Amino acid sequence: MNLILLGPPGAGKGTQAKRLEERFGVVQIATGDMLRAEVRAGSEIGNQAKAIMERGELVPDALITEMIAGRVARPDAARGFILDGFPRTVVQAEALDAMLKAHGLRLDHVIELKVKDDVLVERISGRYTCAGCGEGYHDRFKQPKVEGVCDVCGGREFTRRADDRAETVAARLDAFHRQTAPLLPYYAAQGKLRSVDGMAAMSEVTEALAAILSGQG
Ligand code: AMP
Repeated sequence: MNLILLGPPGAGKGTQAKRLEERFGVVQIATGDMLRAEVRAGSEIGNQAKAIMERGELVPDALITEMIAGRVARPDAARGFILDGFPRTVVQAEALDAMLKAHGLRLDHVIELKVKDDVLVERISGRYTCAGCGEGYHDRFKQPKVEGVCDVCGGREFTRRADDRAETVAARLDAFHRQTAPLLPYYAAQGKLRSVDGMAAMSEVTEALAAILSGQG
């Protein structure tokens, strides 16, 4: 089963992708995570992408499609994958269609997580993750049970994304509305688009997604 989770930054794509990964035995492919790894590694792609990401803009389509080419055909994706944060433009969606075709693969679902902009700003600007295991937390919505200690791994170091600052969030939302929202009619025309209320409780969103994936939604 291959799917795309589509939605603005802060809609919960990453959180839900991780939950579906475990339940459906598919792999999450998140271009934002891949790019952050490239930046940390100081690679050529990372060096090209760093400043653009910090401004909250989209990196060039060619760079992304080059980075992701072949990823969907790797052995760990054979049981299925969840694309999180890709495609983000119509050019990328067309490149993805060609990539899938070349590997004899198809998209089963494209699911939009719908969340209002003001809620997104609040969600993004308070979030942070455990530096050890990557568990996600939020200043208002999800604090560790013991202050300063990760619930999952006991780690005491936490990180915030450079692009989660309030100034950058507006640019990221703007990029979503201008460049990514046109993917909604693109996939609707292919008869693949479904929508889920991303403002519902996290576990309700998971169940709504799971129902679609198991053909009961
Ligand atoms: P994300 O973690 O998905 O919010 O992505 C963080 C940042 O990485 C974005 O604001 C973009 O600068 C860049 N990025 C991630 N995925 C893409 C993509 N598919 N196309 C262009 N830029 C991307």
